[in-house]
Amino acid sequence: EPELTGDFATLMEWADAARRMKVRANAETPLDAKTARQFGAEGIGLCRTEHMFFDDTRIAAVREMILADDEAGRRAALAKIAPFQKADFVELFTIMEGLPVTIRLLDPPLHEFLPHTEEDVAAVAEATGLDAEKLMRRAKELHETNPMLGHRGCRLGVSYPEIYEMQVRAIIEAACDIAKSGKAAPVPEIMHPLVTKGEEMKYLRDLTDRTAKAVLEEQGVDLQYTVGTMVELPRAALRAGDLAANAAFFSFGTNDLTQTTFGISRDDAGKFLGAYIDKGIFDKDPFVSLDQEGVGDLIRIAAERGRAARPDVKLGICGEHGGDPASITFCESVGLDYVSCSPYRVPIARLAAAQAALANKG
Ligand code: PEP
Ligand code: MG
Repeated sequence: EPELTGDFATLMEWADAARRMKVRANAETPLDAKTARQFGAEGIGLCRTEHMFFDDTRIAAVREMILADDEAGRRAALAKIAPFQKADFVELFTIMEGLPVTIRLLDPPLHEFLPHTEEDVAAVAEATGLDAEKLMRRAKELHETNPMLGHRGCRLGVSYPEIYEMQVRAIIEAACDIAKSGKAAPVPEIMHPLVTKGEEMKYLRDLTDRTAKAVLEEQGVDLQYTVGTMVELPRAALRAGDLAANAAFFSFGTNDLTQTTFGISRDDAGKFLGAYIDKGIFDKDPFVSLDQEGVGDLIRIAAERGRAARPDVKLGICGEHGGDPASITFCESVGLDYVSCSPYRVPIARLAAAQAALANKG
């Protein structure tokens, strides 16, 4: 069991007294959430729900849903997944005891969910009674040349709103169950991935509110929740004012923002970045330590335009940079409200946030 004790615990208390930014963790499993709390996380800044769909017992239903050729087929598959989703959130909310939990709706690069082999297709065919050849045809139709820029994130929610409706329903039902049991009411923050346009955000916010309100009415529970967005594409950063009209919070997804600002694939950068660093063109890996120039400019612009449109918009970061001390110093200078990083980096983030706050005071 990881735990902070002795002098280290004392040092962390001093750090906590000095820092301004909150420190949250990226977590979707109960183990990660518990670890995060033991290390002092003050909430979950990113629960990547697609990670909850890869489990062996679930992937067949997910493939069935993706490969269904109509809404009725998707809804039938989603009905199999919904109970798991709700149980996932009950577990997370229980562990987090009323601390904020940002749940990001499904953001798969679609190819990760598509069947990879004929056996995968056969498994779906067997589980569903659907025709294997038809499933294979549909998988080919859905295949993309460039999945990271393809049918990903909220684009999937716009094409197939029933997916996001299922997830919002699961989140709010889970929160209601906990509130009704008399425990600290959860504070769900429902986050949309890969948003680029104000109109897109409005569509997603309406979908979220409509679904959440229906559940709250059914359950007879009064519960606070918020709707927000990832800011992880240059257009989203530049048009942050449009997004803020329908987003109560922004979370900077600096993994994708770095990828799309440089036009460098986050999965392939390792093949050539070494040469750039050797030749002094890059002084560091921008996927590890935030590029405070270009990517940083976009973050500053987004913060400024978002706040101008909505002064109380809550700002955080949940890319890998959220656990990197130099990047955390940058986040303090922009006045972000929180950083979110992997559970084991929470102590470092608490120290770095304190150091940044003290340095800022001068
Ligand atoms: C990001 O893009 O920075 C992010 C946090 O989302 P993901 O890594 O899941 O794409
Ligand atoms: Mg991302």
